[in-house]
Amino acid sequence: MPAADFDMNEIHWLMDMFNTVDVGLVVLDRDYKVCIWNGFMENHSGLLPSAVKDKDIFDLFPSIDEQWFRSKTESVFVLKNRSFTIWEQQPYIFKFKNYRPITGKADHMYQSSTIIPLSTITGEVGHICIIIYDVTDEAMNKLELEQANHKLEQMSRTDSLTTLANRGYWESTLRKEFKRLQRSQGICSLLMFDIDYFKRVNDAYGHSGGDEAIRHISDLLKKTLRETDTAGRYGGEEFVVTLVDTDVEGAQIFAERLRSLIEKSSIFYDNKQIQITVSVGFATYTSDFKKHEEWIEAADTALYHSKETGRNKVTGYSIEMKK
Ligand code: GH3
Ligand code: MG
Ligand code: MG
Repeated sequence: MPAADFDMNEIHWLMDMFNTVDVGLVVLDRDYKVCIWNGFMENHSGLLPSAVKDKDIFDLFPSIDEQWFRSKTESVFVLKNRSFTIWEQQPYIFKFKNYRPITGKADHMYQSSTIIPLSTITGEVGHICIIIYDVTDEAMNKLELEQANHKLEQMSRTDSLTTLANRGYWESTLRKEFKRLQRSQGICSLLMFDIDYFKRVNDAYGHSGGDEAIRHISDLLKKTLRETDTAGRYGGEEFVVTLVDTDVEGAQIFAERLRSLIEKSSIFYDNKQIQITVSVGFATYTSDFKKHEEWIEAADTALYHSKETGRNKVTGYSIEMKK
């Protein structure tokens, strides 16, 4: 369009649109100095176009990761192609406060952007335009969904009374450990224990008293565990522990310490003191076990042996033991 034909009205409209459009528009020159700054950028930054004009963008916004931003924009200058940034990689380019009422949980605006080359009539790219999209709503929805899924996943793995792993999740970790042992021939022991005469606790103190006892035992158990061990609630008042890198002697020591700790401790419930004991069985991994279920059965057999031979004791599995 020849210069003479410029319609001042059109320019006026264009400027109106430029300043009211709900995306940020920034033009930078080759030295990363600001040339253009639209209304969106002014409103969210509080900086007037006159205050940013010809200023270095990295001086104006020290929070911009310069190395990352340059790597995103250099190709636009040099190769003359578009570039994109997404909030999942970098939450924002320009740190703006989030004022939206619905997405008030975010303290800053999440941004995605498109960076386009601006070429002269002769085809040289001396400027780039950054188009900033406010994607806070989308980001918050996605983050909240992820958090909810994470919580659901945690809940589906956890026993609600004790917060130990539930049976299904514990067994899946044992299955993994079993496969690892089959490949690497490492050492690992599996321990199982059951409260002695628990029916009597329920009878004497009610179901809630029984629940308190189960919680008390799981608290003691958690305190004795190492970070690498996985404990689970296997059934009503039956517990399991996978002790990695633990041989027969180690498992015997751990089991005996746990048994004795429980015997010596007291549960306070409804102004009464409850004493309980547990019977323990353990089985150390051997390649004779062809399935992880056989390993569980072996620990259960040892536990049964403890029950049969007096309770409040520890038994290690041996092949001669038959249920
Ligand atoms: P033993 O020494 O042979 O193990 O005797 P026991 O009385 O503990 O017998 P058993 O293991 O068969 O009984 C378990 C009881 O635990 C039966 C059930 O009523 C009770 N129980 C199972 N789950 C819960 C629970 O979540 N809370 C409470 N309070 N009781 C439970
Ligand atoms: Mg019992
Ligand atoms: Mg039982």
